[in-house]
Amino acid sequence: MELASVKGIGPKTEQTLKRMGIENVEDFVTYYPYRYEMIRRSNIQDLNQDDHIVIDGVVETIPTLSFFGHRRNRMAFFIINETTRLQIVIFNRLYLKNKLMIGTEVTVIGKYDKRHNTVVASEIRFGKIIEEKIERIYHLAEGITQKAMSQYIDFALTLPYEVVDHIPVYFQEKYHFLNQKESIEEIHHPHNKKRLQEARKRIIYEELFTYMLKVTDLKMKRKKLPGLVHSFSQEQLEEWIETLPFALTEDQARSVWEIAGDLKSPYQMNRLLQGDVGSGKTVVAMAAIYLNYLSGYQSAFMAPTEILATQHYESVCRMFDKCNIQVALLTGKMKMKERRKTIQELQDGKIDILIGTHALVSDDVQYNCLGLVITDEQHRFGVKTRSGLTEKGVCPDILSMSATPIPRTYALTMYGDMDVSNIVTMPEGRKPVLTIIKREKEITEVLAAMYEQLKLGHQVYVIAPLIEDEENDKNDTQRLFKNMEKAFGKRYQIGVLHGKMKALEKEEVMAKFSRNELQILISTTVIEVGVDVKNATMMVIFDADRFGLATIHQLRGRVGRNALQSYCILISNKPCERLDILVKTNDGFVISEEDFKMRGSGDLFGARQSGDMCFRVADLRRDFKILQVAKRDSEYFLTDPRFSNPRDNQLKETILRVSQYRG
Ligand code: ADP
Ligand code: MG
Repeated sequence: MELASVKGIGPKTEQTLKRMGIENVEDFVTYYPYRYEMIRRSNIQDLNQDDHIVIDGVVETIPTLSFFGHRRNRMAFFIINETTRLQIVIFNRLYLKNKLMIGTEVTVIGKYDKRHNTVVASEIRFGKIIEEKIERIYHLAEGITQKAMSQYIDFALTLPYEVVDHIPVYFQEKYHFLNQKESIEEIHHPHNKKRLQEARKRIIYEELFTYMLKVTDLKMKRKKLPGLVHSFSQEQLEEWIETLPFALTEDQARSVWEIAGDLKSPYQMNRLLQGDVGSGKTVVAMAAIYLNYLSGYQSAFMAPTEILATQHYESVCRMFDKCNIQVALLTGKMKMKERRKTIQELQDGKIDILIGTHALVSDDVQYNCLGLVITDEQHRFGVKTRSGLTEKGVCPDILSMSATPIPRTYALTMYGDMDVSNIVTMPEGRKPVLTIIKREKEITEVLAAMYEQLKLGHQVYVIAPLIEDEENDKNDTQRLFKNMEKAFGKRYQIGVLHGKMKALEKEEVMAKFSRNELQILISTTVIEVGVDVKNATMMVIFDADRFGLATIHQLRGRVGRNALQSYCILISNKPCERLDILVKTNDGFVISEEDFKMRGSGDLFGARQSGDMCFRVADLRRDFKILQVAKRDSEYFLTDPRFSNPRDNQLKETILRVSQYRG
């Protein structure tokens, strides 16, 4: 079909459609509605404040018009029908004014403001509601109306079309799916809710199945990427575990053995180590580093901040001080001379473990025999930084660590091509952090609670939402410092930490806090990740309502790192229901799911998933069950000999060719 030959499609519309990826009949018929509108007269008595409403009547008063802001306007008028009289308000629809004459029959769709008996309309149509129907709504691009889009699609549906069916016959039969043509018809022209549901189920399954097939395929191919073969003995690993000051938890031990298996295998490791803050990922990373060292390779250990890199450096040195392992630190702030020396030694193979920030991927850093790359808090690095590091070795094994619990939904898809080790249980003897919400006017109670902890010889974090507030009336670090000085300055030492300080200053403050030379540390979220001071048992977060739940959860993970009872006080002056979840649970997965529900996945994961995961109909959250089934089926389809006949092989090829997932 030539688009231009369809009535109403001029050259301009044709361009727009092309940009939307629509070029032929098949593209049209698979351009599915993303939602539906039930056109059925609402029963006003049943509606609550802000409910969706569909209502018809005749115009009773001429619209009154008011203008505000930049080219914005508001019209208000009344409609009346057999049972009710309602005010209708609609914004920026000036062109409707002359059509809304007294006595005109209209149907209004919008939101019902029960308190004012008003409807804020999103749409006004002319004519009454004649019959109940399900109306489809398509995503649109500029210049194309809902009505026009529906017409193009209806026209396309009358033409012969052939859409490749991506669901293998075996699964079609297994799930008794509607056949493809019926589904497509039903999706655009629903008969009733039940059939529409069935059609959508098929299309959602198809979308998720093809997606997961691609992910699974990548995972299988990657498994076959040649990698370094590490060699060490089981005894060596067991002996090393014996030397640790504590017994590994079951999850830690399993993760260590999984990694050991990956290292020994002739394929490249690409593993994600997931565990909530404080679950003890670092020691697992150390095990990997040690095994890599035994095999004669260098390790690179990359942390997102200088503070964290330094801390890792110190614990690695401590951990290996009895072995003859050379550890070095490389940060962006090092002196030139020192840096050159480190880089030279690295190149000569004198350094076994290099720890640092993204400085590890600078162009001038060359490794002698890089065998393992570890990134801590891996979601903080761009994909590019990570691959930059990978390219420096021949094909080093990769271990990524993350404390941002990825909701299960996403772990399945975004990390579908990685292996995952999970640390679920916390080391023994940990008490969950007790979280309390307070108002700022209850500050004396908060200070008293802080004093309790300080008297016990413990330390306290105070989190400020801002470094510096120009108007000087918010809780910035300066103001909190002054207030804390007033309250505790005579007996205790107080320090300030924030992102604008020089790296050396930051390190100094952090070091003092670790040595208990400071008892109170006022900080912005720079301490969010990784910092480990066991003696700190309280965190007070000012203006907690300004932070995301996941951020607070990470912050809170700085306390509760030993057997003492720790506390987190969230200060919020606005009522903030969201924060309640933090009081109720310490489970990072629950919290991130909640955060995700409220804010979308955007800032949780950066760019990766947004481009890759644009489904037409599927919604990972809503359709999670189908996703799980699709994942299992795609694995089965790729590996079971039952599907190695020509027809199924052909289908695999087709799907892998067209699937949008790029890995
Ligand atoms: P995270 O997973 O947040 O990086 P860490 O690796 O920093 O956690 O560990 C948190 C704290 O728990 C550290 O002080 C560490 O020494 C301690 N730890 C780790 N594993 C165990 C264990 N099996 N038993 C007791 N303490 C442990
Ligand atoms: Mg850590």
